[in-house]
Amino acid sequence: MTAKMYYDADADLSALDGQTVAVIGYGSQGHAHALNLHESGVNVIVGLAAGSKSWPLAEAAGLTVKTVAEAVKAADVVMVAVPDTIQKAVYDNDIEPNLKPGALLMFAHGFNIRFGRIKPAAGTDVGMVAPKGPGHLLRSVYEQGGGVPALFAVEQDGTGTARARTLAYARGIGSTRAGVLETTFKEETETDLFGEQALLCGGVSALVKAAFETLVEAGYQPELAYFETMHELKLIVDLMYRGGLNYMRFSVSDTAEFGDYVSGPRVTEGSKAAMRDVLTDIQTGAFAERWIAVQEAGGDEFRELRARDRGHQIEQVGADLRSKMQFLNPVVVEAGAAQASTSKAAGEARK
Ligand code: NAD
Ligand code: MG
Repeated sequence: MTAKMYYDADADLSALDGQTVAVIGYGSQGHAHALNLHESGVNVIVGLAAGSKSWPLAEAAGLTVKTVAEAVKAADVVMVAVPDTIQKAVYDNDIEPNLKPGALLMFAHGFNIRFGRIKPAAGTDVGMVAPKGPGHLLRSVYEQGGGVPALFAVEQDGTGTARARTLAYARGIGSTRAGVLETTFKEETETDLFGEQALLCGGVSALVKAAFETLVEAGYQPELAYFETMHELKLIVDLMYRGGLNYMRFSVSDTAEFGDYVSGPRVTEGSKAAMRDVLTDIQTGAFAERWIAVQEAGGDEFRELRARDRGHQIEQVGADLRSKMQFLNPVVVEAGAAQASTSKAAGEARK
């Protein structure tokens, strides 16, 4: 192991003594950050848009809620936990004009800083704590006494206290219980985008669809193809999660293991070159530019892409089969919904 991990003993919560932390947004990350910090003894307030549906939820959980502008005015540390796509607008309108001098502006992902959408003044400290897991997990693991690991970074430290405060924040949300790793906004953003595009969201979806289509086009039954491709994927991923590729290979049959070695590389031939291209587009800013342009044009292209994949045969076959498998807690995503419709599912579904 070459990277240095930081644990509870390396992160002094007293760096936040006498300070007020405003968590802006109460979604997947925001609710977990605010509640964990609160229970760690940090003075937390939540900043929300007036009329937000989250307002009564946060109050019912015992938190103080203010408008974004009022929360920022009262805060020494501001965590921007609203979706990356609206951060620039919230920052320009309500955060930047109200930031105290020397305040620490924090992010849970570096997109807007890395690609220059948000350019904090030189007198503002800038830090990041990016948990390596969704908010519902950050919350439930903390409640059980554990922590979800995180990345942390400091981009600007005019006061000389940004690093200590960022580490204290990581401790307050419980992440130093499991360990936090120091990075930069550049490294976190580029690797996070690469992971979700090349493998976690993009790569895996493309492989599942291609395998399903290959079987169906060859005349096999779609229902069987669904079980073989999407349904069984979880079993395999769970084995990898617990014990790596070696444990997965230990658990499957020798035939499956042999086929893995001889056929896997055939399937991904050319993939690494494509992955390097994807990484280049992220590093040069070409991907970010394209995504921002799509949003600024009103998002039609994004909605068209979503609509095109929604109707894929594997989604229709899958929904029917899953409805008979209550043990897997099936979820139906409504057309036009940005995320799954039940609150539990929404928390689970975000990357
Ligand atoms: P989310 O979509 O779950 O929540 C967004 C919340 O922002 C909403 O619930 C609402 O309370 C609030 N909000 C929306 N519009 C607002 C406005 N105009 N003014 C004020 N508040 C508003 O978002 P999320 O997934 O928690 O993402 C927040 C940040 O955390 C992002 O930077 C994201 O990249 C990062 N992150 C997310 C995850 C994850 O698993 N979800 C993991 C690591 C990092
Ligand atoms: Mg990620």
